[in-house]
Amino acid sequence: MQDVTSAAAEPRGARIDPDPEGLLRQLRARSTGDPVTHVERVAASAGTSADWPYWVPDELRKALVERGVVAPWRHQAEAADLAYAGSHVVVATGTGSGKSLAYQLPALSTLLADPRATVLYLAPTKALAADQLRAVAELGLDGVRPACYDGDTPQAEREWIRQHSRFLLTNPDMLHHGILPGHARWSAFLRRLAYVVVDECHTYRGVFGSHVAHVLRRLRRQADRYGRPGPGPGGTTGPDGTAGPLAPGALAAAGPDGTTGPGGGAGEVRPARAGRITGVAPLPAGAAFASRRDWAARRGPTFVLASATAGDPAGTAGRLIGLPVTAVTEDTAPRGGVTFALWEPPLLPPEPGATRNTGTVVDADTVVDTDTVVDTDTVVDAGTGARLDGPPGTGASASTGRSADRPDPSPGHLVPGGDLAQVRRSALRETADLLSDLVATGTRTLAFVRSRRGAEVIATAARRSLDEAVPGLGRRVAAYRAGYLREERRELERALLSGELLGLASTNALELGVDLTGLDAVLICGYPGTRASLWQQAGRAGRSGREALAVLIARDDPLDTYLVHHPEALFGRPVEATVLDPGNPYVLGPQLCCAAVEAPLTETDLELFGPAAPAAVAALTESGALRRRPTGWYWRHTGRPEVDLRGTGGTPICVVESATGRLLGTVEESSSHVLVHPGAVYLHQGVSYLVDELDLEGACALVHAEEPDWSTHARDVTSLSVASVRSYVDAGPVGLFLGEVDVTSQVVSYQRRRIATGEVLDTRPLDLPVRELRTVAVWFTVSPRSLTAAGVDPAEVPGALHAAEHAAIGLLPLVATCDRWDIGGLSTALHPDTEAPTVFVYDGHTGGAGFAERAYHAASGWLRATRDAIVECGCETGCPSCVQSPKCGNGNNPLAKPEAVTLLDVVLANLPGEPAAESD
Ligand SMILES: [Zn+2]
Ligand SMILES: [Zn+2]
Repeated sequence: MQDVTSAAAEPRGARIDPDPEGLLRQLRARSTGDPVTHVERVAASAGTSADWPYWVPDELRKALVERGVVAPWRHQAEAADLAYAGSHVVVATGTGSGKSLAYQLPALSTLLADPRATVLYLAPTKALAADQLRAVAELGLDGVRPACYDGDTPQAEREWIRQHSRFLLTNPDMLHHGILPGHARWSAFLRRLAYVVVDECHTYRGVFGSHVAHVLRRLRRQADRYGRPGPGPGGTTGPDGTAGPLAPGALAAAGPDGTTGPGGGAGEVRPARAGRITGVAPLPAGAAFASRRDWAARRGPTFVLASATAGDPAGTAGRLIGLPVTAVTEDTAPRGGVTFALWEPPLLPPEPGATRNTGTVVDADTVVDTDTVVDTDTVVDAGTGARLDGPPGTGASASTGRSADRPDPSPGHLVPGGDLAQVRRSALRETADLLSDLVATGTRTLAFVRSRRGAEVIATAARRSLDEAVPGLGRRVAAYRAGYLREERRELERALLSGELLGLASTNALELGVDLTGLDAVLICGYPGTRASLWQQAGRAGRSGREALAVLIARDDPLDTYLVHHPEALFGRPVEATVLDPGNPYVLGPQLCCAAVEAPLTETDLELFGPAAPAAVAALTESGALRRRPTGWYWRHTGRPEVDLRGTGGTPICVVESATGRLLGTVEESSSHVLVHPGAVYLHQGVSYLVDELDLEGACALVHAEEPDWSTHARDVTSLSVASVRSYVDAGPVGLFLGEVDVTSQVVSYQRRRIATGEVLDTRPLDLPVRELRTVAVWFTVSPRSLTAAGVDPAEVPGALHAAEHAAIGLLPLVATCDRWDIGGLSTALHPDTEAPTVFVYDGHTGGAGFAERAYHAASGWLRATRDAIVECGCETGCPSCVQSPKCGNGNNPLAKPEAVTLLDVVLANLPGEPAAESD
């Protein structure tokens, strides 16, 4: 999100409009063949402004006008009006559309009008919170006292902030670990909480999103408890030593200070029925703007959420906060036209026996999950470097004909081994060339790449080729990644905007909290995973009414291949909805324990935590975590439960540098065997470490700094059994299922591979315990007879299933906001539980994260796209762009590409075309 000033269209400098179509012609002319598969023209729009809402105080309006915001855009005013009237609202508009103003107006107006009101702002990163703090502080409003409160806040300042700040900027982790557990100290702040702002709310997805959903319910619960009048918090002291039972009813009546009497303020706001958590009390028509103190009469704070463009923003935001939300989606900010090209790097000629064209840059993604923002408070860089799978036949379970692909948080790039030699030119190399071509013509260009290493590779290659052409020109290209200080970021922004710097290669760290406008071209190296991210990145170009060029360069990946050949899947189609599942019992249970520590849980509270809560509380009582008493359910233990917002269960493993005792970061217990096994290369903020010891009991891994020229790759043996079937579709020879499965895996060895070539140096055994994962899977079965009838040789069935499984995992992000790294798969020609050839695709998180479920409901579209991606890849026997997987636990063996297409044809011919119907 941008600060308020970007809402004003302000041309920077006197530059000539670039001619994106001319630029594209030049780029195409320099390439072998024509790599452009599609060109889309996205028209410019002029922007529609609105009047300032009448309720905005002069002081605020003047401060904003001084900062260059002449008037709000219509969507800003619309969202602000809704929020001011007490509706929970989500603004889901494009990059740079000025979403900040939509919450700043109601929040700051309320703070100015009522000296007691408070506002809580949540950002997924500390950097974004710091930028928002700066934007609010610069307005210089009296009495607002904005302050950041996070892991970096000095102890000495914390007390002052608790006492005096009325605009608190923090993150969900701090809310979960710091503020809610200490709610009594925050009682004054929580009592007067008028607004909760949830910025970049699309980043709360999957398991993390499900946790955040409950953290927000816990926040609502505490705000509600302290917001009630009469005896209670501060009055009596309950058994938990913080707050006592509360008088139900009369919730919306006068506060203790008598500011808003019953019937005053908002008019006929009736007290809610005893303890029911229903969210906002409905405001009668016409009374919406009756009083500046409306907020005080409301039931709980009003939520204002800001999202990137996303599908079903109201639904997702509603699931996140547990209340009905109104969406504002029409973007009325002005924008320039964009010429958007899809670019597929050419296939390189096959090289017999070669492992990789030596002139090719090897993609080596190390970012865990580029869509989820990992707050550096908690988890830093869990990547182990490039995951380069080995030659065929080394997979420990290959002999069983079963192929397992674990969900793996360490994405990398496949270097084909053995006889698989046909690959496309690397997307990194292609992007580096495009960047240098554009910079050479004076075009201000930003190149997005998924990994830090990728950003550095692109910048280095572009600098080198520019210096060859014009010595010194290379200096005008730089790399940018997360972890830079604000001063460093500002300097880069300044240099790029002034034209000193012409090219920047960046990870998507730039998506959040950095204000870059007025670029001429954006290169996107590899599909960023979601259409939402794609538009957010492309949105960096062409603002301020200027024309711009955007190019998506396909990587070796089935989803990228599919998209460059199916522009209709990218353009003129709503972006995907964010998936989260607050009902996941492995998230809900621990969150209910946290809530019970904060205050005993009552029946009423259970409604707040959703329909799965009563069963979860019963299970927790059974297991002895909670005890039922007449006044509610109590946490039975001393101390708090350890709950990591980014995982499901298990104590995170601390990664500690032996020599200094410094804590580098943590790794989720579930991925520790893969990421920090003894001998593993562990990357932390671009620095490489070697793991000396993994102490599972002590939950720590000891490492030392070392930069070897090889990478490590864990190998595992995996099996899966079906625990229960939730739902299925019986389609004759084909079956489609959704259910719980138990995945058992053991990391048994690791390979060391030369980074430059992918050459396997050796395989070393490991002695690690078996891990079990109860999760949710979608699977399909095909009868052997139907496969034979379709012409698939029985000997090719395992390869067909395995190839289909890889491609299906690769295409799943088309229908669910997951990354392929969130997903695991297993295929087998005969599974004991299904007694048929079967492909399983499962959520890599305990209890599931909603991805498999989404895949089940979108199965026919998902599998059709999978089939098309395989068919449309120009390779003959399979390549990383179609059926090979960079994280295959089986060394990409066996794989049968043509047979995989036949298999999927059989499945699609039998599956109903509509989303799978529910049955039991
Ligand atoms: Zn291929
Ligand atoms: Zn595999």
